[in-house]
Amino acid sequence: MEKLIITVGITGSRITREQTPYIPITPEEIARSGIEAWKAGASILHIHVRDPETGLGTQKLELFKEVVDRIRSETDAILCLTTSGIPGRNLPISERLIPLNLHPELVSFDAGSINMGEHVFLNPKEFLDALAKATLEKGIKPELEIFEVGMVYTCLKYLEKGLLKPPLHFQFVLGTPNGMPATVKSLLHLTEIIPRDSTWSVIGVGAGQLPMTMVAMTMGGHIRVGLEDNIYYSKGRLAKSNAELVERVVRISHEFGREIATPAEARRILKL
Ligand code: ZN
Repeated sequence: MEKLIITVGITGSRITREQTPYIPITPEEIARSGIEAWKAGASILHIHVRDPETGLGTQKLELFKEVVDRIRSETDAILCLTTSGIPGRNLPISERLIPLNLHPELVSFDAGSINMGEHVFLNPKEFLDALAKATLEKGIKPELEIFEVGMVYTCLKYLEKGLLKPPLHFQFVLGTPNGMPATVKSLLHLTEIIPRDSTWSVIGVGAGQLPMTMVAMTMGGHIRVGLEDNIYYSKGRLAKSNAELVERVVRISHEFGREIATPAEARRILKL
């Protein structure tokens, strides 16, 4: 089995300080939390930024730059910057593509639209076309975020058209209220329909995080943990940091006998 690549979703754009006091908000907090998670064993840091005044998600280049510069100066972590925009706000495509200007090795590619709480998470064709084209031009690998099975077929069409380049890297997002559930059956189906040379990782949302991590670990896939997807360490007990969530999966993986990939090893596995 390949070594295990651990990605950490540091803060996302939705979780508030009212939900957990441990969610990083300022660029300094986001960078520090990412650096701690990298020290704990994460090789990929998935980054959103927040407006320090309002605490809400934003696409401001200066904020991304501050986080990216701080992390790059202290780590060799792979950066995966978000292009998902802000919940409930239909941002112009150009604004969603802003993080590509910082030349991360990965950017998120949400391969279709889906209902999310009160809002529709909009990823129409024009956006996906523009994002695919921009990643090809800049040599950035898209991390294909899959919330339901149709999104895999969207990616396969883009692959056929040459708008995505093989090998593909999928991030299955299981357990959102309107997406595929965080179950073994979901994961089996998804892993059976992707091209053979693809790599994949799984996000179990909320209570699905730890079980999906265990399943992917034994199947030979990769995993994402972190406060963006799950704020609890166990039932009723908030996770105190991203590093705490990373440390747990590192311990389990060691016990299980699967080694953890360093960022350099993750680059080789993902063919970055
Ligand atoms: Zn994200």
